[in-house]
Amino acid sequence: MLRQNLIRLSIALCERSDSAPGKVLLYDPHRTRSESEHFEIMTRLNRLVPENELYLVFQPKVDLETGVCSGAEVLVRWNTSKGEISPALFIPLAEENGSISKITRWVIHRTLSTVGGRSLLELGGRPLVYAINISVVDMRAPDFVEFLESLLELYAVPPSQIELELTERMLIDDDTHVRGNFAALQKLGVRLAIDDFGTGYSGLNYLNKFFVNTIKIDKSFVDAIEPGAQPGSLAVMEAVISLGIALGLELTAEGIEHAYQATYLAERRCHLGQGWLFSRPLSFEAFVDFAERCNLRESA
Ligand code: C2E
Ligand code: CA
Ligand code: CA
Repeated sequence: MLRQNLIRLSIALCERSDSAPGKVLLYDPHRTRSESEHFEIMTRLNRLVPENELYLVFQPKVDLETGVCSGAEVLVRWNTSKGEISPALFIPLAEENGSISKITRWVIHRTLSTVGGRSLLELGGRPLVYAINISVVDMRAPDFVEFLESLLELYAVPPSQIELELTERMLIDDDTHVRGNFAALQKLGVRLAIDDFGTGYSGLNYLNKFFVNTIKIDKSFVDAIEPGAQPGSLAVMEAVISLGIALGLELTAEGIEHAYQATYLAERRCHLGQGWLFSRPLSFEAFVDFAERCNLRESA
């Protein structure tokens, strides 16, 4: 057992990004604890049975001007025998060990069977758009678009009511499969969004090369909107809004927790908002109730 642990910890030490041939790495019990936790999560991910352990929550997106619910971002949850593990922790590990493909495909299947099967594609005469997070590993898979297309057909979901949230990193990836899939998704007619916009890469050149529908303004920019904020601290966010408007893109701000943030963003013509001010992520039933309250009241 001791020998097994020693070997495992040595492998974890060698896999660190700061390791290099000939470099001495010191044993740090705190860091090593998180490395062994990661190792355990990876092992669990390899044995994951999505149908039994994963479930979905839906976080509403709201039109900042009218209060109408325009749809939801679909977020995955993982319930293990040891309790819930946050996606912020397990998704990067699943990307690392490849199990993300199984997770994404389960998320797509479950989302489409839920919204298509229950005909929840519009409310009060307004179409609802469901946004699904996609990883670079999915975009590198040659059969990804075919998989998505077959499920859209099976559950009779119009492609225009599904939005895929991609990251900036993906768009500067020079992988030919990523480029091919991007073009095929555009042809299929699903909506494409850039998640966490402005947090990764400063090169905006990809906006000319790839067609996207939506920019998601990251929570870190929204957090800067606070009473008495220095104008300089909001300059980047305002530039992002202006850029989005100039390019004719839809803008969604995420992580809105306060009414003054929503007002500020609406005044600058940011279209949609998402965050605890409106709603935490909900079960599908609770999401439908929320959307009915917003949209049926609005159309009454
Ligand atoms: P994300 O795509 O940026 O998702 C937004 C995260 O912010 C979600 O955390 C959401 O619950 C949280 N959030 C929303 N509004 C607020 C707010 O007002 N205040 C605060 N403090 N937080 C808010 P969550 O669900 O824990 O997801 C974390 C990350 O995990 C996501 O970040 C996304 O990168 C990843 N993720 C979640 N579900 C999936 C999935 O199905 N597939 C993939 N590939 N990644 C996923
Ligand atoms: Ca997202
Ligand atoms: Ca985000």
